[in-house]
Amino acid sequence: MSRIAVAALEDLNAEQRAAVEHGRAPLLVIAGAGTGKTKTLSHRVAHLVAQGADPSRILLLTFSRRAASEMIARVGRVMAGDVRLPWAGTFHAIGARLLRELAPAIGLDAEFTIHDRADSADLMGMVRHQLGLGGTAKRFPMKGTCLAIYSRAVNAEETIADALASAFPWCREWGVELKALSAAYVEAKQRQNVLDYDDLLWLWAEAMREPALAAEIGARFDHVLVDEYQDTNKLQARILLGLKPDGVGLTVVGDDAQSIYAFRAADVRNILDFPGTFSPPAKIVTLEQNYRSTAPILEASNAVMALAREGFTKCLRTARAAGGAPKLVSVRDEAGQAAYVAEQVLEARERGLELKQQAVLFRAADFSAPLELELARRDIPFVKFGGLKFLEAAHVKDFLAILRWAQNGGDRLAGFRTLQLVPGVGPARAARVLDVVDEHGAYGAVRNTAPPAGASEAWRALKEMLAALDAAVWPSDLDLVARWYQPVMDGRYDDARVRLGDIEQLQRIGATFGSRQSFLTELTLDPPNSTSDESGPALKDDDYLILSTIHSAKGQEWKSVFVLNVVDGCMPSDLGAGSTAELEEERRLLYVAMTRAKDDLHLITPQRFYHTQQGRGGDKHVYAARSRFLPSALLEKFEQIAWAPAEGAGLHSQRGALPQVDLAARARARFS
Ligand code: ATP
Ligand code: MG
Repeated sequence: MSRIAVAALEDLNAEQRAAVEHGRAPLLVIAGAGTGKTKTLSHRVAHLVAQGADPSRILLLTFSRRAASEMIARVGRVMAGDVRLPWAGTFHAIGARLLRELAPAIGLDAEFTIHDRADSADLMGMVRHQLGLGGTAKRFPMKGTCLAIYSRAVNAEETIADALASAFPWCREWGVELKALSAAYVEAKQRQNVLDYDDLLWLWAEAMREPALAAEIGARFDHVLVDEYQDTNKLQARILLGLKPDGVGLTVVGDDAQSIYAFRAADVRNILDFPGTFSPPAKIVTLEQNYRSTAPILEASNAVMALAREGFTKCLRTARAAGGAPKLVSVRDEAGQAAYVAEQVLEARERGLELKQQAVLFRAADFSAPLELELARRDIPFVKFGGLKFLEAAHVKDFLAILRWAQNGGDRLAGFRTLQLVPGVGPARAARVLDVVDEHGAYGAVRNTAPPAGASEAWRALKEMLAALDAAVWPSDLDLVARWYQPVMDGRYDDARVRLGDIEQLQRIGATFGSRQSFLTELTLDPPNSTSDESGPALKDDDYLILSTIHSAKGQEWKSVFVLNVVDGCMPSDLGAGSTAELEEERRLLYVAMTRAKDDLHLITPQRFYHTQQGRGGDKHVYAARSRFLPSALLEKFEQIAWAPAEGAGLHSQRGALPQVDLAARARARFS
């Protein structure tokens, strides 16, 4: 054994080491938060490589691309050198790569483009409209709901009727129509040669049903390792079994108490049933020592989970005895909450704690809006994960649509969007142009169509750009599109100058990819999380506060953590407060949020919320109660604080106390 590997084993405990040194028989590491599951997994990879395993024959499946690169970096540190792991990534990204290779064998055109969730919903909307389901007298589910139902059926391997019964009972009356809609949606995708996220898993899983294909792909990998296994679905379990039917070379790690993706058809049975899938059963390693959090934080987190309906038997210990109790902070309202966080964050920074070591977590992306305003007002830089994504911004979608249409002339959604960027081209004309796509793809369609009245110049520019794109060598495509798009953007958006920064950023990111196709694929599958993420030079400050949804915070840790809106209605969210199973998932979400903290944890409970009730007498207060996951018996685990901003603090924090003046009405009255 190499010296490097011996040294690396020294900072592991006995159980972790057993998992690292375990042979090739199937292995499950199941343990609570912060016990070093991810660390163990990366040490195992390093150990395998040190023992002579070929890194290009290791398949490492992670929850996000960020997680994959962190894992690769950790392996590098353990090995004291760079290790390339070409097959480390998310299930979706790896699936896309394999499907492109397998395409000729499975009836796919290898040039397929990939739709993200928003594109998929748009296409679903188009099909829904074509089938005349939009105009039904009784309200038919909206496109997003239709997609969620379809997606649930695919990922849980259920019929539409079962998916409706188990997760969308209020749509049950539309079973027949939804089934027809799903069929038409699948046909539309195939006609256009596009795959959605669900296809990446489903097609991969289907391909693994074919013994010859499964053997060929499975034989490429000596080891398959999966992190966060509790949040995989049936398709993902089937993929793994297809790759390694006897489980030899298979390692999965996870925590059943942290399963938070059942709403996307993740199935905690995957991890619970894993050992018994094989004979002899998989080796199980459990870890009980938590290395992340101080004892008081861990005790409070354990106490929250102890009230769960199902038993999670893991009892965690920590060696980090020091530290005060987590804080349960009561504030007047959301403005007070924002002021509290801003003040605490700045104070901690004064004490020497970088902003990056502090994170604010929330159940729903829009909970952070008042805080974002407060941070902007106080000039505190932040990056938000899991909110409005970079790729959801209209101008970024425009830019990518052009590239996607050039890549795949059959991608109607991309063509539809691109064509309507030309002044004078509306949906009807765009649809007609798309009907004449020929073997020259997008360029052919435009060439074969007469320019719209008054826009012959713009039409010619579009045609020339598409022709140039056909011949372009990557990354010059990016410049061609940017040059064409810039005047379009000037005409469409008041803040075109601000948006230009994003386009330039796209060009910078794009230039680092080898081809148009790999750029489009990667960006769709694993988008940068915000306009300032991955930007390097575009980000003014190199230290910034982290804002994240709890779902996006999985697997991560910070010294100081704030959790917003720990009140009923927000946590559990109104949405999740239905069935017991949903409620239990909300409890685990709180557990995931709390266990991200190393040294300091603040759970914040605003006492009242403003609700704008238009047409019903203006603003109203709604009083909120502490989350039901923190009953009185648990309060002794916390330091309870009632916090109010100091006199003379920002306008914001005093909103409730100011007289109400309706200047909007006054403005209207001026001309009435
Ligand atoms: P989660 O359930 O949140 O994904 P995890 O079980 O994957 O957590 P890690 O993120 O791997 O846990 O580790 C949590 C922290 O504990 C990290 O900072 C890690 O470096 C540290 N840690 C893990 N094992 C040890 C160890 N044996 N000695 C010292 N520190 C450790
Ligand atoms: Mg982890």
